[in-house]
Formats: sequence, C-alpha cells, structure tokens
Amino acid sequence: MSNQTLQLTDELYVYLKAKGVRESSALAALREETAALPMSMMQIAPEQGQFMAMLIKLIGARRCLEVGTFTGYSALACAEALPADGRLVALDISEEWTAIGRRHWAAAGLADRIDLRLGPAAESLQALLDDGEADSFDFLFIDADKTGYAQYYELGLELLRPGGLVAVDNVLWDGAVAAPGPGDDDTEALRRFNDALAADQRVDLVMVPIGDGLSLARKRVAGESSD
Ligand code: CA
Repeated sequence: MSNQTLQLTDELYVYLKAKGVRESSALAALREETAALPMSMMQIAPEQGQFMAMLIKLIGARRCLEVGTFTGYSALACAEALPADGRLVALDISEEWTAIGRRHWAAAGLADRIDLRLGPAAESLQALLDDGEADSFDFLFIDADKTGYAQYYELGLELLRPGGLVAVDNVLWDGAVAAPGPGDDDTEALRRFNDALAADQRVDLVMVPIGDGLSLARKRVAGESSD
C-alpha cells in the first residue's frame, strides 16, 4: 500500500489499461496509425484520453476548445464525449498531421462536431475573443508548443466560462521540470508556467500524474473563496 502516487511498472501499466481503459475502435485505429509516425510521442495516452472524456461528461460540457491537435486523438476522444449538438474548436498549425485526424473523425461519423482551424493558436484564440466568444467554452485542452503555453492559457481562460475547466498537458515533461539545474527552452517554459499556475488564484488547481502530467485548473466563479 502506498499513500504516494504509485510508480507504474510495465506490468502494472498493462494491467491498468486492461482493466481501466475502454478505447473505442475509432480511437484505437487512430492511435495505431499515429504510432507508426516519427512524432508519435506527441499523441496522448489512451487512459488520458478516457480521463478527459470522463471530465467532459462530468461537467456537462457542450463547447470544447483544443490548442494543439496533432493527428486528432484527443479531439476524437472529446468529440465522442460531447452530446450530439456539442462542438469542439480544434486549433493547430499542421495541415499534414491534422489531415490524418480529419480522415478518422469522418470515419467515426463525428466530423461535424469538430471545427478545425489552422493557423497560429494565439491568433485563432484572439479571433474567438474578437468574435465575442469570451466566457463561452466549458473545457479547454492545451497541448501545443511549450513556449506558447502561458499565452494560450491567458487567452483560453478568457474564453472559458466561470466553472469551466482547463487541462494542460506535459506539465511533468518526463521529469525534467524537477531536475536540478537549468533546462532547455521547453523545460524552462514549463517551469515558469507551472510556477505561475501554482500561484494563480483565479483557478482551483490539481496536477494529475497521468501520461506526462496533466494540470487541471477550474476557473473560479466570482465570489468563490481563494486558498
Ligand atoms: Ca502532449
């Protein structure tokens, strides 16, 4: 028994996936195709996709936003969790990678739930704000270039409704964030981001050691007490 989060052995991880993950055939097909790519490490783990789908259902999300789509696994997990009239706005810069996602979203019959917008994410987020979409999203997933996280978070938090949820990926960065000494640009950006989030009284916060580390920040409703 442990009162710290367990280190998962390979054996225990296989068990966790066997007993705790129900991946749809559409998600499995997309995961397998992506696994053959050289950048496959950018795909989230199946248990993380299922965890986020659970959160989306629990908060009754109808409008989701994603910064960083890659080949579309997290977008498909989100689309599966949304109600039929729910929508995900997915932001990415890569036509090549998102084309894989588009094909799988269509095969799953969920393409109409996903509004993919190609271009620099900060510009796309600002465009949503300019269109009057502040306080309108229920769930935001940030999983893009790490040096852009702080800006995506600030713009995204404006787009989120009070009580809405931000999920930020790779916050443990394979352990590098806690290693001694200076890190590379991505590591330093994540350290600064994690420091700022830890002190951010606009949100409730928990850092979950799933996948490469997932921080959950719930946008506080006006009048709620801070820590
Ligand atoms: Ca990631």
